[in-house]
Amino acid sequence: MSICNYDECTGCAACLNVCPVNCITFKEDDEGFLRPFINESKCIKCGKCVKTCPANGGNNFNYSKNDMKAYAYINDDLETLRGSASGGAFSVLAKKILAENGVVFGACYENKFTVIHKGITREEQLQLLRDSKYVQSNIKNTYIEAKKYLEQGRLVLFTGTPCQIAGLYSTINYKKYNNLYTIDILCHGVPNPKIFREYITYLEEKYGKIEKYTFRDKSKWGWGSWGSFIYNDKCTGKEKKKNFIVPTDYYYSLYFKDINLRESCYKCKYTTIPRVADLTLGDYWGIDEVMPNIKSRDGVSLILVNSAQGEKLISSLELPEKSGMYQTRLDDAIRHNITIVSATKRPKGRDDFYKNLNKYGFENTAKMYCKLKHREVLSLYVPRKLKIKIKKILRGIKK
Ligand SMILES: Cc1cc2nc3c(=O)[nH]c(=O)nc-3n(C[C@H](O)[C@H](O)[C@H](O)COP(=O)(O)OP(=O)(O)OC[C@H]3O[C@@H](n4cnc5c(N)ncnc54)[C@H](O)[C@@H]3O)c2cc1C
Repeated sequence: MSICNYDECTGCAACLNVCPVNCITFKEDDEGFLRPFINESKCIKCGKCVKTCPANGGNNFNYSKNDMKAYAYINDDLETLRGSASGGAFSVLAKKILAENGVVFGACYENKFTVIHKGITREEQLQLLRDSKYVQSNIKNTYIEAKKYLEQGRLVLFTGTPCQIAGLYSTINYKKYNNLYTIDILCHGVPNPKIFREYITYLEEKYGKIEKYTFRDKSKWGWGSWGSFIYNDKCTGKEKKKNFIVPTDYYYSLYFKDINLRESCYKCKYTTIPRVADLTLGDYWGIDEVMPNIKSRDGVSLILVNSAQGEKLISSLELPEKSGMYQTRLDDAIRHNITIVSATKRPKGRDDFYKNLNKYGFENTAKMYCKLKHREVLSLYVPRKLKIKIKKILRGIKK
């Protein structure tokens, strides 16, 4: 029995969370994406998994574009800002919930480099959820866990990709809880845990044991699409750090080519307005153009307020928490971040990518797909501000 169309399964795990006899487990498919597998001998054919699956029906996310608000945000705590992918909006909102004895759910690393969803209750644990992990996280049974806290009357902030928020909504009767807040992150798609594991193995063979991996490291170049890893040098045994940018890193290059995303990501029905969650967070790319007076080397978040519940959480922030927040036009935000309203295009190379990965291994496959065109290399090395200036000049010439 299949729960939904193969290509539409987002791996949100609503089915696993809702099954009354726990006969669904999540296992990696041939490509390495987590999918539900039903133990037919235990299944009581109640059909709950099929009915609950967000891929099989539309949820009524009834927030209209007119009611939405958009903000640029920069966290005033430099350490938090530097440890966050964008402007640190997630941390300020999560802190608010934790300060009121609430529980915050989000993605963290487990056993070094497996990404899972987890609920935290203390501020010291926040750094576990902070920063983007460009790998699909395993939701496990966190929807049911969240429901347990909601029933106890505790505040819950559930964060994740839009499909994960849809999974939560389908699993629990979310409209019943005024103590639930949700955040979806702007997501252009997720690669799977298997390719990330193989990449880490490749790095370890090349450099030595990887101790820490950061997808968005701001220490060297500030806010942008670059990261770093810390490793124990296999020759000297000394701890070393390596910073990388897209063209110098296979995993990042493949990710930015959109070649290794889950099939459902290319048909994502959540990259649209109305958005799924109460709030949406992303990078406010283009801020230099929209609000040139806002300067931040270490990043700017985009916050979309999508519902009355989202508005309530934003309004509850006090000064100085709110001091780095600037209202902006939604259309400006969309213009610079198309992920808000459109799914990633499926590149042709996706057809054979995972077949090749299984056949030739990580390094050989990455080499096959990572040949950059000169124009791409140039564009990656040109600083953002210079790119904006060039665009302006070109626009002037066209006029
Ligand atoms: C897979 C992925 C794709 C993204 N694509 C875009 C994009 O195209 N455009 C854009 O503007 N922004 C994108 N983002 C969002 C952006 O990178 C930041 O996560 C977001 O702006 C929040 O940053 P922050 O500074 O507020 O907080 P941070 O502390 O950096 O963010 C932490 C938040 O991200 C969540 N998170 C981290 N990794 C995952 C994961 N694997 N699965 C689910 N949730 C996760 C945590 O649960 C937490 O809620 C993406 C993020 C991810 C994880």
